[in-house]
Amino acid sequence: HPSAPSLMMNSHFASVGEDASKEAYEHGIQVIDEDKVFNGHLSTYLNVEKVIPAGFNYHLISVFGSQSTGKSTLLNHLFKTQFGVMSEQERRQTTKGIWMSKNKREGADKDSRGMAENILVMDVEGTDGRERGEDQDFERKSALFALATSEVLIVNIWEHQVGLYQGANMGLLKTVFEVNLQLFVKDSKTIPRSLLFFVIRDHLGHTPLLNLQNTLLQDLSKLWSSISKPSGLETSRIEDYFDFAFVALPHKILQPEKFEQEVEKLSTRFREGYNDPKKSGLLDEDSFPVFQPQYHRRIPADGFAVYAEGVWDQIVNNKDLDLPTQQELLAQFRCDEISREVLIAFDEKITPLEDKQAEDARIGKPTVIPDLGSAMNVARAKVMKDFETNASRYHKGVFTRKRAELESKVDTRLKALFQKQLSAAHKSGVEAFSNAVSVAVKSGQKKGNTYDFAQIVETEKKKALAKFESDAQAIVIHGAPWSTYKQEMNLYRKDLDEVSSRLRKEEMRRLATRVERWVRSRLDESIGLEFNKIGTGRGGSGAPEHGERPASEKDLWDRIWTIFTETVEDAEKRFTDRAQSFDASPEEVEVGLWRLRRKSWGVLRAKIDEEVMEGNILLKLRENFEDKFRYDEHGVPRIWRPTDDIEGIYTKARESTITLIPLLSRFRLSRTSALPPLDAWIGSPPQSVSPADEEDLMPIGGVDEDEGKSLEEEMTVLSDAKRQDLLVRFKKTADGVYVEAKRSAIGGMTQ
Ligand code: GDP
Ligand code: MG
Repeated sequence: HPSAPSLMMNSHFASVGEDASKEAYEHGIQVIDEDKVFNGHLSTYLNVEKVIPAGFNYHLISVFGSQSTGKSTLLNHLFKTQFGVMSEQERRQTTKGIWMSKNKREGADKDSRGMAENILVMDVEGTDGRERGEDQDFERKSALFALATSEVLIVNIWEHQVGLYQGANMGLLKTVFEVNLQLFVKDSKTIPRSLLFFVIRDHLGHTPLLNLQNTLLQDLSKLWSSISKPSGLETSRIEDYFDFAFVALPHKILQPEKFEQEVEKLSTRFREGYNDPKKSGLLDEDSFPVFQPQYHRRIPADGFAVYAEGVWDQIVNNKDLDLPTQQELLAQFRCDEISREVLIAFDEKITPLEDKQAEDARIGKPTVIPDLGSAMNVARAKVMKDFETNASRYHKGVFTRKRAELESKVDTRLKALFQKQLSAAHKSGVEAFSNAVSVAVKSGQKKGNTYDFAQIVETEKKKALAKFESDAQAIVIHGAPWSTYKQEMNLYRKDLDEVSSRLRKEEMRRLATRVERWVRSRLDESIGLEFNKIGTGRGGSGAPEHGERPASEKDLWDRIWTIFTETVEDAEKRFTDRAQSFDASPEEVEVGLWRLRRKSWGVLRAKIDEEVMEGNILLKLRENFEDKFRYDEHGVPRIWRPTDDIEGIYTKARESTITLIPLLSRFRLSRTSALPPLDAWIGSPPQSVSPADEEDLMPIGGVDEDEGKSLEEEMTVLSDAKRQDLLVRFKKTADGVYVEAKRSAIGGMTQ
């Protein structure tokens, strides 16, 4: 590369030495050199290129992007400039600095191709050595210079860099945007706009440009939201300062002709966009002119050199863009190295524990690792101490920052161990609690159900909480404020409460089953007795008079209803007492009682059905009949004589027994001959009843309205057909008894 001409020139000399200078400026002018010095000859160059008298009629374009992404090559093709490009053979770095050249297309100035007049192009040259802080310094400063001065910033990027934060230079863009706001936007009266023109290189064509464009736009708006903005601009959006355009170019080396074609097409966009209605936003037509009036910085051409130098001064003197001193660089390097070294021992201790947890998680059996707490504490204390011993000798600020970095790295891993251990303790604790309660209940059941459920739960919960607390306490890390377990402890307590309430529900069910069983055995006995009384035909209050039914028969159902309701009342009291003893809620008790009443009714109904089963009832009717037929009114057995009115006695006894059949057929209260008030007695379902509570309940006629069965039907013990059938059978049986009596009377006479 040629350096700037040694011959001092100014505008007075311009016409004299013009030809010689033109040659000297063949490759343009190095506006800023590798030592960050601004070239005092910029004005001379603009004069040589006849830009100085142009007023506002000139344009400034810059290019931004990673090293060796073909930026210079692109500019040279677009504007026929001669910026230095890396030779494909040598892969050697071109001279560092910011270069400027005027558009060199033939006849460009005559507007023959529609290109704007006086396009000035800036090419930024950096180096590849990214990790060397010094280069980043230049990179940042030159990128900011380009951004602050240019109307159009070409952002040159490989297709495969799209979506990669580092690859796409997003980090650099972020800093540049930030400082640009701070330095040049904050106090300016008019908000400068620029066009960010993304040129995507080596576009393979698989991914449509639109997709790439969307990815980049998303990344940019994310980036914008993350930058720190000066006060007053906190809510600003990236669109307030930038328009966007996108173009994709084919691979220059693989598809040289296509590349050439596309670049030619692209060059036509560098024309004036006079008073275009579309003022801002996304220039999404690929023929849209890129020079919009609002991008122009409105600096007259003859003042540009001074203006640019002022911008550069501001940039060079800005501390935010400054990069660390050698001392800091060394500290960074060594601290990172020491960090890596001390982490080796830490890894040896901690990795196996992480592996163990990962394996436990994989097989779904998280376990509490014993001694995890001491292992973590020792490893953390050691790694920090080792780091401090070795790294504290270096630059204090860097050391402090790096120590914090290391600590956060270490703590991220320890925190994961800590959390997983807590969750293992939680899981196993809940399980142990639930088991312990079940075991205690079982052993209580064996000892005759005298256990106190609430007490069992209370004791086990205390144990479970104490165990969790000690597990958690054991892994608290000294000096790590994040290692607390208060919240987890609360969650654990909540889970225990949930399990308790589930266990209590189960216990309620067990209690309900026990009470139901009690009701069943009571009703079995007492209801059975009532039906047996029918067999005697005499009931409790002596012989029937004037063909009246004995009280035992007439008020059979009244007594059954009374026995039933009293038995259940008794059961309800047992249930309530016991349920309250283990802290069941009033709602739970209410539901339990409601269920008990319904189930008890089922028990009674089944018992009645059993009693009136064909053989049973027939036998009872026969006994009833025989009692009346074979015994006289004093209860003395009859010895039949031929003179006796066997027929008359037979008919009377038979008719008396037959009247039992309609009585037995329907559950009726004798005093009012009304149906028993089963619906009112059971009551409507409690508010808190759940579908699970209703799942195993049989429908009851007249109580469950949607069952389509009335209370009348529910209370029907024998259907008409059964009654009819029973009557026929009974008559046959009675007839048999009568014939037998008749025979014995005759037999007695012959004796
Ligand atoms: P700069 O550092 O970004 O200015 O890159 P250069 O223009 O100096 O080019 C760097 C290297 O990339 C050179 O060897 C070019 O031949 C090569 N190159 C230029 N354009 C393209 C392109 O479109 N695709 C590919 N793959 N390589 C290119
Ligand atoms: Mg270059």
